[in-house]
Amino acid sequence: MIMLPTFDRIFIDKTSEDSEVALRVRSLYPAEIITSSDERQPNANENFSLDKKGPMTADEFNLSKRTLLLTTFKGQFFKRCPGATQKKALTCCNYHVLNLGSQCNMNCSYCYLQSYLNSRTTKIFTNIDQALAELKEMADQHPDQPFRVGTGEVIDSLSLDLLTLYSRRLIEFINQYPKWILEFKTKSNNVEQFLDLKTAGNTVVSWSINPPYIIDREEHGTARFYERIAAAIKCRDQGYKIAFHIDPMIWHPEWKENYSYLAEELNRQFNPSDVHIISLGSLRFQPEQRHMMRERFGLDSLVTRAEMFSSEGNKLRYDAALRSEMFQFMIKKMKALDSAWNIFLCMETPETWIQSFDKVPMQVPELRSLFKPLPQIRDFQS
Ligand code: SF4
Repeated sequence: MIMLPTFDRIFIDKTSEDSEVALRVRSLYPAEIITSSDERQPNANENFSLDKKGPMTADEFNLSKRTLLLTTFKGQFFKRCPGATQKKALTCCNYHVLNLGSQCNMNCSYCYLQSYLNSRTTKIFTNIDQALAELKEMADQHPDQPFRVGTGEVIDSLSLDLLTLYSRRLIEFINQYPKWILEFKTKSNNVEQFLDLKTAGNTVVSWSINPPYIIDREEHGTARFYERIAAAIKCRDQGYKIAFHIDPMIWHPEWKENYSYLAEELNRQFNPSDVHIISLGSLRFQPEQRHMMRERFGLDSLVTRAEMFSSEGNKLRYDAALRSEMFQFMIKKMKALDSAWNIFLCMETPETWIQSFDKVPMQVPELRSLFKPLPQIRDFQS
């Protein structure tokens, strides 16, 4: 039995009515909660508008997670990772993002979507054919460049995949371009829907992961620690590459014990050769989302209570010395368990790289290919 994400209401745009996703959604959810958006009559008593844009209140943000809109995306799908557009401030790998929707049905206290989104719905874009056509054009021009494409920037890559089955289309596509890498990034355990597909070895299924203590307190509605581990084992056993993002590391009084437990469990369950990469990141968010986080999660959250400082990219972060201490602790711990673990920092400054590794990424042999600049391609700039 599949566990579907819960929605109070589902709207389907006229442009999406005949899409495979709309047909599938209509077959999975009760008709009473589904409305064709152009048939919808404005209701003066309804405190909700599909078209309203702009910063959301906490209530509007909560509601946007429970309201699904199937629509077509009118812009360019394929974009460069936000970290790469702030090159002076951040040391960023060559990552490109493909957004096939926005908003998330899970609910992490620190989620940056709280300050990023301005639309009152969870969107799924039904025109995946256009996204794949864009990818094909670029892949045909640059089949030998090691482009990395991720689908988990403003939506979890797999948490709504039971509705879309986009993972299957993307895996079949990327299998044709063995030098390219496709990355699914998720906090769900939805993997069964694609495991029957053979991979050309260039699809990485990755989990953002934290110690159970943090998952239970801060990552509401996500797959629990051992559910994520079990899903990763299934993917590994089917020949998929797997990766872990220990991100965001969150300081709390017992952080050393809890992150040691995480390192030991990863080392117990996997070999370094099973795991494409482990990346580390620390808590960060835009100052303007602090108020919403407090309203939504209260002061019991480790995130809303944290002492944060202005930093690169106009984000709040722990101070540089604490970030470096946390990264060094994790790197030393993993390397002491097995020196073959491939570990790097995500969205961090060159200074933190030097403090944590004593080098910048281009000086770390295992990471050089990830960070090697690729030719500038007009279409990749966001
Ligand atoms: S899983 Fe990711 S996108 Fe979803 S709420 Fe958590 S941080 Fe946000």
